[in-house]
This record gives sequence, structure tokens and C-alpha cells, in this order.
Amino acid sequence: MEKKSAKMLQLLLKEITGDTEQAWESFRRRAQTAVERESQIHQKPGEIAGVSGYRTKKEQKEIFENSLMENGREFTETYVAFPDHSEHQTGLAMDLAENRPEIDFIRPEFPRYGICQRFRERASAYGFVERYKTEKQKITGIGSEPWHFRYVGTPHAKIMEKTGLALEEYIQWLKQFDLTVHPLTWKQYRIGYVRARGAVTEWKGLTALQKTGEHSLSGIGAEAELQTVISGNNADGFIITIAAL
Ligand SMILES: [Zn+2]
Repeated sequence: MEKKSAKMLQLLLKEITGDTEQAWESFRRRAQTAVERESQIHQKPGEIAGVSGYRTKKEQKEIFENSLMENGREFTETYVAFPDHSEHQTGLAMDLAENRPEIDFIRPEFPRYGICQRFRERASAYGFVERYKTEKQKITGIGSEPWHFRYVGTPHAKIMEKTGLALEEYIQWLKQFDLTVHPLTWKQYRIGYVRARGAVTEWKGLTALQKTGEHSLSGIGAEAELQTVISGNNADGFIITIAAL
């Protein structure tokens, strides 16, 4: 998944910059991990810079501790996740900035105009969501972070955008769509929740789904090739996404 998020980001940046390999190369060179952050300075204005992507636990710990010293506890606990609580440790999150001579590492500027807004508007088509919005602070427990994008894949990013749900809410909401009883249908996708059941490690849901009449896959094309993605919801079960190719 980590590789896929990088690939999708590459495609998205290519689209909004209108450039090909070069745009990605220059972005990639600047995409900084916490450790390398000092070297991110030479920027062209009007571009997007990668500020922070994948972090190890050790790096997250360093960032947290440095911020405690520099910014105090209240600021740090609002904007910096505790080690092992950061999406950056999954490799599925990326902090982006508008290129400026000075980039704030913890709170980079990613304004709602220009190239940054173009990125924001196209992000869901590539499986990314703006993860921490002002109005969702009570739910996410994180302050507004217009610079932090999270890869959730397609079609989930699109559905989250359409429903206005934060990831925590979306995962809860999906639970009503039992995959074999009444999956959520979205374009060529069927999405459903399967509860984890103790030590059972085998799942025959797809076979069951194919056998049920009303909820057969004929609606998305019985002849179509199907691609199934299984994602743990990090709590109590799995989200199954079936796409007709
Ligand atoms: Zn972030």
C-alpha cells in the first residue's frame, strides 16, 4: 500500500503540474523525511514541496521531543502525534507545502488557492483525502492540518469527499454494509464490512456473494474480471473492496 500511495501521488502531481518525469523527480528530491529536513530549502515558488512522508518510530519520537522543547506541550499535542500514533509511520501520509524560502516543518503552508488548491481538488480521484479538517477536530483529535494528505485508495477517497465523513466516521459508517447481505455499491465497486472472528483466518465471502441471487455480482458485470482488496480497519474487522475491471 505504501508503494501504491507513492505511485498515485506521482500521477496526481504529473497531472496538476502538466509535467512528466521531471516534475516527479524534482518533487521526489525534495520530499523529505524528518531526518533530512534541513536540506529542503532550494525551492521554486509556485510549486509543491514534499515536507514529510514516511517516518520511523524513532523519527516520530525525535520530532515529538524536539517540538516539546521548541513549541511546548499544548502545541505539540495538537499538531504532532505521539510515537506509534502517527499516520506517517504507515507510509500512507504526506505533508505538503507551497514552495517558499522558509517552510515550517510542523505546520507548512498549503493554501486554498493556486497549485495547492488544484492538488486538493484532484486528490480524491487518486485516492487521497485531506485528513484533518477544522470541523472534524473533535472526531480526529488532531488540529486542522490543511497540509496533511492521507492515502485511502479509490473509491474510498471519493466516497469520503461526497459524504463529508472523516476517516474515523467513514470506517464506522461502512459497518452497516455487510458484504454478503447488502454491500455498498459505488460505480463499478462493491464495498462491504466483514467482522473479524477470533482465530478464523479464512474468508469465503466472495464465493457467498457470488452465490446469492439478489446480491450477485451481476450488477457490476458477471463477466467482468474482479479485483478484491482487503484492508484491516485497525479495530475489529475488514473492509472489502471489490472492483469490476
Ligand atoms: Zn502529517
